[in-house]
Amino acid sequence: MLGLMQDQPLLISALIEFAARHHGDAEIVSRRVEGDIHRSTWRDVAARARKVANALDQMKLAESDRVATLAWNGYRHLELYYGVSGSGRVLHTLNPRLHPDQVVWIANHAEDQVLCFDMTFLPIVQAIHAKCPTIKQYVALCDADKLPADTGIPGLVSYEAWIAPQKDSYVWPKLDENAASSMCYTSGTTGNPKAALYSHRSSILHAYAAALPDVMCLSARDSVLPVVPMFHVNAWGLPYSAAMVGCKLVFPGAGMDGKSVYDLMESEKVTFAAGVPTVWQMLLGHLKPNNLKFSTLTRTVIGGSACPPAMINAFRDDYGVDVLHAWGMTEMSPLGTLCTLKNKHLGMSAEDQMKIRLKQGRAIFGVDMKIVGENGQELPWDGKTYGDLLVKGPWIVKDYFKTEGGHPLVSDANGEGWFPTGDVATIDADGYMQITDRSKDVIKSGGEWISSIDIENIAVAHPAIAMAACIGVKHPKWDERPVVVVVKKPGAEVTRDELIQFYEGKTAKWQIPDDVVFVDAIPLGATGKMLKTKLREQLANYTLPTA
Ligand code: ADP
Repeated sequence: MLGLMQDQPLLISALIEFAARHHGDAEIVSRRVEGDIHRSTWRDVAARARKVANALDQMKLAESDRVATLAWNGYRHLELYYGVSGSGRVLHTLNPRLHPDQVVWIANHAEDQVLCFDMTFLPIVQAIHAKCPTIKQYVALCDADKLPADTGIPGLVSYEAWIAPQKDSYVWPKLDENAASSMCYTSGTTGNPKAALYSHRSSILHAYAAALPDVMCLSARDSVLPVVPMFHVNAWGLPYSAAMVGCKLVFPGAGMDGKSVYDLMESEKVTFAAGVPTVWQMLLGHLKPNNLKFSTLTRTVIGGSACPPAMINAFRDDYGVDVLHAWGMTEMSPLGTLCTLKNKHLGMSAEDQMKIRLKQGRAIFGVDMKIVGENGQELPWDGKTYGDLLVKGPWIVKDYFKTEGGHPLVSDANGEGWFPTGDVATIDADGYMQITDRSKDVIKSGGEWISSIDIENIAVAHPAIAMAACIGVKHPKWDERPVVVVVKKPGAEVTRDELIQFYEGKTAKWQIPDDVVFVDAIPLGATGKMLKTKLREQLANYTLPTA
C-alpha cells in the first residue's frame, strides 16, 4: 500500500518561489564588481530569475543544456542559479582561478552552450572563446552601458540588455526531481577534473540538511555571508538553504580580503559566515592589529581543509564567535559532517569540549560513513584506528559526468555502493570523525603514519607563524620524514630551532618535523587550499639535513 501524500517533486524552482512569496522583502546585498553596494530582495531575485528562464527559452536551449558562469558571489549569479536550474537547464559554475587552458578543457567537456561572466573575467573569456566551439552566447554580467565597445567576443550582450525584454512571469516546468540541476568540476589536484552532476532532489535534500540546528542552524533571522565562492560546490549550498529559510544574504563580490569582508560583516549585520581557513586567516590578520571586534557575528562554518585549533580558539576567546568545523567534498554537495557537541558533552570542561570541537564532526542525517582497512574490512570506531573513509547518501555522487576510465563507487559485501573519499580518518565511539590526512598527503615514516594536519596545526599555534604546510620528504632509512614549510606573520621572528623546539611535548618525538623551510608564500589552489603538489615540485631539489 502506498501512502496517500501528494507527490510533489523536489525542485529548485520551488525554493525561489517560496522565498519570494514568504520572505519577499528579505534583502540580498551584493558588493558589485563596479565597487558599489547593490540591494535587492528575494522578490526581485525571483522576478529576474524568471526573466533569465524566458531568455533561455527564447534561445531554444534544450532541457539539460549547460549554462556556464565565471562569476563572483553576487545577485546576478544568484538569479542565474534559479533561472537556469529552475527552467530545466544545468548551471555549470566554472572556477575562474583555474588556468585558462583548464577552463577551456572543462567548458568543452561540459559542452557549455552559454557563458555568463563578471567583467573581472573578461580577459579569460577573450583568451578562451575561440577554443570553446559549443558556446553560442556570451553574456557579460553588467549594465548595458558598462559593456565595452570592442571586446572581440562575437555576439556579446550585457546581462541587463539580455533579460530586459523578457517577462518577469514564468511557469516553471514540472521536472523529474532527479533531473540534473547544476554541476561542479573538482579542482583536479590529481588528474583531469571530474564533474559532480547535482540533481534537484539532491540539492533540496542537502539544503534541508544544511539548515538543521546541528549543521548551519540557519533561520529567517540570519544575515548570511557566503565567503565560500558560488563557483565552488554551489557555495556549500547556501544559495539554496538561504531561500529555504528566507534569510538575508550578503555577497562579497570580488572583495575577499580581510578588510573588505570585515567591513561588509559590520555594515550588513552579518550573523553567520562560511569559508575556507585561508580566508579566515586573512580576516583575523586584519582584526588583530586594528583592534576590531565583531558586533553581530555569532558563528562561522569553516571547512574545505582542516581548521587549525589556534583559529578556533582565536575566534572563540578573542571574538566570542563559535567556529563550526565542517568536512565535505565537491562530490558530496559538499556537506558530510559538522562538529557540534551532544547533550552529554555540555557538562565537560572547556578543554575537553575543545578536543571534540577540533574534529571534523558527526555525520549529518542522510550521510552514512565508515572507515575501512586495506582489504575493505570495516575498522572500529575507537577514535584511534585510522582507515580510508567511505561515504554514501542521497547527495553524494554515484558517478561522474561522462565518466571516462571507470566508476568511482566501491561495493561492500551487500552490494551497496560507497564513495571512497580519498581521506584517511578515525571515527570515535560517539561518531565524531577526524581527518588524519588526504591519503596522498599522509607521511609514511618507518612503517607508521604521520598526519600532516597535526604537524601543521602545531606550527600555526606558534605566535610567529601565519601558515604552515607539512610534506613528506624521502629519507634513506625512514622512507619519508616530515618537513614543515612555513610563512611567518609580518614582522614576526622565529628560528628553525625555536620552531622545532616548540613541537616538544606537543606530539610524539618521532613525529616532530626534521626540518623547517621558511617561504614567503605557500602556493594555493583554485579554491584557496594549500597546493601540496606544487609545493613538492618547488622543493624537488631539497634534501633533508638528516638524510
Ligand atoms: P578538491 O578535491 O579539489 O580539493 P574539494 O574541495 O571537494 O575538492 O575537497 C575535498 C577535500 O578537502 C576532502 O576530501 C578533504 O581532504 C578536504 N577537506 C575538506 N574539509 C576538510 C576539513 N574540515 N578538514 C580536513 N580536510 C578537509
